[in-house]
Amino acid sequence: MEKCYCCQKELSKDDIGLCKKLLGKKIKQFFCREHLAEILDTDVEVLTEKIEQFKEEGCTLFL
Ligand SMILES: [Zn+2]
Repeated sequence: MEKCYCCQKELSKDDIGLCKKLLGKKIKQFFCREHLAEILDTDVEVLTEKIEQFKEEGCTLFL
């Protein structure tokens, strides 16, 4: 189970997929939605919307 690099929170499949999608598939550090929002200078709600969007597009990272 991957954990957030910042707060050690255990990550869901969606969060891991989101990190890979936005930061690159080869990343070694993962972040929870909150910290990912901070890093990307955006909001948690925006990221949650993006997950839904990626799922609708059939992105394999979220299967
Ligand atoms: Zn975190």
